[in-house]
Amino acid sequence: MRFDTKLVHVGQEPPAGTGDLVPPLHLASTYERDVQDPVRWFYARGENPTREDLERVLAALEDVRFATAFASGQAAGATALAVLARRLVIVSDDVYGGTHALMGTVADRGVEVRYADLADPGVADRVLAAAPPGALVWVETPTNPLLKVVDVARVARQAHEAGAVVLVDNTVAGPALQRPLALGADVSLYSTTKSVAGHLDVLGGALVHDREDLHEAFTAHRTAVGSVPGPFDCFLVHRGLKTLSLRAERQVATTGKLVAELCASPAVAEVRYPGLPGHPGHEVAARQMSGGGSLVSFRYRGDVGAFLRRLRLFGNAVSLGGVRSLASRPATTTHRPVPPDLRARLGITEDLVRMSIGIEDPEDLLDDLRNALGGGAAWRS
Ligand SMILES: *Cc1c(COP(=O)(O)O)cnc(C)c1O
Repeated sequence: MRFDTKLVHVGQEPPAGTGDLVPPLHLASTYERDVQDPVRWFYARGENPTREDLERVLAALEDVRFATAFASGQAAGATALAVLARRLVIVSDDVYGGTHALMGTVADRGVEVRYADLADPGVADRVLAAAPPGALVWVETPTNPLLKVVDVARVARQAHEAGAVVLVDNTVAGPALQRPLALGADVSLYSTTKSVAGHLDVLGGALVHDREDLHEAFTAHRTAVGSVPGPFDCFLVHRGLKTLSLRAERQVATTGKLVAELCASPAVAEVRYPGLPGHPGHEVAARQMSGGGSLVSFRYRGDVGAFLRRLRLFGNAVSLGGVRSLASRPATTTHRPVPPDLRARLGITEDLVRMSIGIEDPEDLLDDLRNALGGGAAWRS
């Protein structure tokens, strides 16, 4: 079965007895032990059929056996760190703001956290060659919000030589455009809140991989701390997932048009998008992603606040990968948790705008963007 077919078939097989063609919503928190297999179905923090339907399709999308669903992307990250972060975590320097907060929790328990520009092959080579066995390498690609591209196959090869484990936060690209496990990573992390669910109406997360030992450790940790997603949330993520490929296709095509508009505008100083041939990571992106994605960042020459307020269709809001287009200023929103010196060094400055492109009519989005860019006083005078 190919990817697009899995989206609407795996985890959605009609159950015997009723033949539901949509995965049933199982709300029970506990199970009658004489009727059910008492080991298989015990208590909903550990087992839930609606959740397992979702997990089956998430695993199938990366052609592996295991997926563990969580209440949020952060909950998935917390479990990954609890299980995998022992002495050292090497992290992409430009990552989701919340990831910095998560790393703070492991630093508090004595694990060393080392940020490195893994998008720079020279830096990645040096850092990974020195990685001790058992280190965790936490990659985000494309990075958020600067959209740097990390060569996953290369990083995985070097990390494995050193005996390290590689996790890729694949939230920004999503499984339709990039499959880290096929590139050699050990674990894919998703905030399913974003493109997987896609409708801006649910929080969720997942760890996807093919290792039995990790499956046991991840589910045991999730059961212990109780960071499970509710059945209705699983249902919503699963429902949203069915249109993932259709949404991604439209979003990537529209993003290309908006990027061309941004590149041509005198109000814009710099455009960062992996799909642009001039982007430093373009060659790697073209190899490991199918499409440049639906996220673009740029530096605006005028008043960013005024620009955001002039947009009518783009919501002035954080989050990404959803059906509605959104725009935000990372320095004052998503990346506020990043230490100010690191933020400045990376270039997450106040003029940086991040846009997540939705599924609206591309011409309407272009009109909205042109109108908002046209009001930039900095270049009009
Ligand atoms: C949103 C996001 C997360 C966190 O996910 P939540 O579902 O909000 O907890 C992690 N990584 C990336 C790249 C994200 O965009």
